[in-house]
Amino acid sequence: MSLSLSGERPDPPADAADGAWLACIECGATYAPFEEIRYTCDSCDGLLEVRYEDNPALEDFGDEGDQRGVWRYADALPVESGVSIDEGDTPLYEVPTIEEEVGVADLRIKHEGMNPTGSFKDRGMTLGVRVAEKLGVNRLACASTGNTSAALACYGARAGTEVLVLLPEGKVAAGKVAQASLHGARILEVDGNFDACLDIVSDLADRGEAYLLNSLNPFRLEGQKTIGLEILEQFRDQTGDFPDRIVLPVGNAGNTAALYKAFRELVAAGSLDPEEVPALTGVQAEGAAPMVEAIEEGNDEVRRWEEVETRATAIRIGNPVNAPKALPGIRETGGTAVAVSDEKITDAQRALARDGVGVEPASAASVAGLRKLRESGDIDADEQVTCLTTGHLLKDPDAAAAAGADPEPVPADTEGVLDLLE
Ligand SMILES: *Cc1c(COP(=O)(O)O)cnc(C)c1O
Ligand SMILES: [Zn+2]
Repeated sequence: MSLSLSGERPDPPADAADGAWLACIECGATYAPFEEIRYTCDSCDGLLEVRYEDNPALEDFGDEGDQRGVWRYADALPVESGVSIDEGDTPLYEVPTIEEEVGVADLRIKHEGMNPTGSFKDRGMTLGVRVAEKLGVNRLACASTGNTSAALACYGARAGTEVLVLLPEGKVAAGKVAQASLHGARILEVDGNFDACLDIVSDLADRGEAYLLNSLNPFRLEGQKTIGLEILEQFRDQTGDFPDRIVLPVGNAGNTAALYKAFRELVAAGSLDPEEVPALTGVQAEGAAPMVEAIEEGNDEVRRWEEVETRATAIRIGNPVNAPKALPGIRETGGTAVAVSDEKITDAQRALARDGVGVEPASAASVAGLRKLRESGDIDADEQVTCLTTGHLLKDPDAAAAAGADPEPVPADTEGVLDLLE
């Protein structure tokens, strides 16, 4: 397995561009990054990742730069600048009530719902849409449980490029469809689940009909890598240490793969000791938990679940495409994976809201997972933990309203209101 925390530095192939290239994680084949459109390895169909000759930004990790957000780490990315609307630089919140109730030494919430379109997907799109411009494509496309389509529609509009999105009919939260629609994407509702949408859009991409911006696209994950860099910097600024563990919701496992890549590159740059790498801990909904199954059974491959169901629609995914990158990330960092019920997800969504953090259901899975692993003793009381919350409360207004209290009708006079308040 090539994806380890060894700290090894690869030699660049002759056709690298500015010290960056694409490499297959299975067979090691290398490719020039911007000459041809390619999502997987030509010879073995394995996943590709961006590799770098050196990483000056990561050697100076923690130094104050002028820029904020994703492009603060431009030297650790394969292009100098993106199609940007100031993504990244999201807050790391204390949540004293949950910290106390769960019983860990320290708990912070990295709230990715505070990105421009309300989810972490913006971090990948700022980069992915710029690479699409470099490649000269004229149509961008994705399959989406909602947030990818919202982000792609927004960044595609910004770049002036046509956007096509495929959504599973009836299973996308209202806020996300509204975003994709207003930003001008062409929206196709597919009579099938997310995995079926991705099969179709991958076919379209292979036939040259569109440039694919799902997390199979290795450039998107480079942008998402900055979540890991920000968490380490902010956690150390706030507490003096790096976190012991990062708990995150898992859908296609892009973030799990991207955070692991950030840590591998920091280790290779000499800015992080292998023992300091946070344990990556993935959380899925019980009705869509193929990664948890693979971790529990010790399998190297993830079995595709044909039927998936959960209220956390953003992680309603049965075939996590980044599993070959993410499974080693969970295992090599000493992490684990756990499944939680929809009921526990809603409980966690309410708990976060009480601490002032408004998230959509999938995001709350991280806190529900932390609770479960504390109860089982898999997470210790002395751990310093960051939970990733991936999307904003307003993404799914129906779920938020269902989890909260109903409005109470009153007559239009003060006495009537006072009577009710009695
Ligand atoms: C996309 C998304 C996820 C899943 O992330 P992966 O990187 O695919 O595992 C989780 N939560 C929200 C809100 C999302 O939009
Ligand atoms: Zn290969």
